[in-house]
Amino acid sequence: MIESTPVGTTACKVVANEEITDNVHYLTFERPYDFEAGQLLSLTLNANIPPRLYSIASGTNNDCISILFDVKPEGTLTPLLAKLAAGDFVFISPPYGSFLGSNEPAVWIATGTGIAPFISMAQSGLGDNKTLIHGARTINEFYFAHFFEAIKGLTYIRCASKGSYSNTYNGRLTAYLRETSSLPLNEKYYLCGNPLMVNEVRDLLIERGIPFDNILSEIFF
Ligand SMILES: Cc1cc2nc3c(=O)[nH]c(=O)nc-3n(C[C@H](O)[C@H](O)[C@H](O)COP(=O)(O)OP(=O)(O)OC[C@H]3O[C@@H](n4cnc5c(N)ncnc54)[C@H](O)[C@@H]3O)c2cc1C
Repeated sequence: MIESTPVGTTACKVVANEEITDNVHYLTFERPYDFEAGQLLSLTLNANIPPRLYSIASGTNNDCISILFDVKPEGTLTPLLAKLAAGDFVFISPPYGSFLGSNEPAVWIATGTGIAPFISMAQSGLGDNKTLIHGARTINEFYFAHFFEAIKGLTYIRCASKGSYSNTYNGRLTAYLRETSSLPLNEKYYLCGNPLMVNEVRDLLIERGIPFDNILSEIFF
């Protein structure tokens, strides 16, 4: 049954809700709007819960829209989202935001679920000429790793801060950025994830000579 639709939102039927690793879900629902890769939407379950923001994590040509979220155990919305099943409804705003992907060479930098807009950009055909650097704690948290590894023209680097794994930089993403010699000065840098990471990486890039105007940020708070 559809609850009364909150103002400014559209009801969308849930198609799938997959827990891709502990407490991280890939939620897919009907698509009422077109969007640009990198945009976000606000989403709720009823008029009593203020909407939360989620980056779209699916391609612009997909039939449905997906988001990637981690469950905050003390949170209001995400424990309820985790219980959704096919046939339930979510309420979403039209897409918005200026963190937009392009065909130009660029460096994509994410921590945790901050990978979401880059899933959208890559699924939308913008993965060529990109370097993706994903930071997480353990190997299980590199969401969509196989998908990114298979994209021609995309260099995929993952940094695990806990544990030791093959084909992985074993250390924090910021340590990797301090050590690497390949930070092109004339490309755009897209940063997405928690505020601490985005601020630290932005400072580090500026120290390394990247022009401020080449740094775009999407902060999940
Ligand atoms: C631009 C933007 C894009 C975003 N995109 C994404 C995305 O793609 N994926 C994603 O997962 N998130 C994203 N977020 C974050 C998202 O909007 C929500 O903030 C998040 O999902 C938590 O929602 P919630 O209702 O479960 O938690 P909230 O109820 O909003 O709680 C927020 C935090 O407070 C803590 N908290 C709340 N109440 C208590 C309490 N009583 N005691 C202790 N702790 C408490 C919760 O554990 C949680 O950590 C984005 C945010 C922004 C600003």
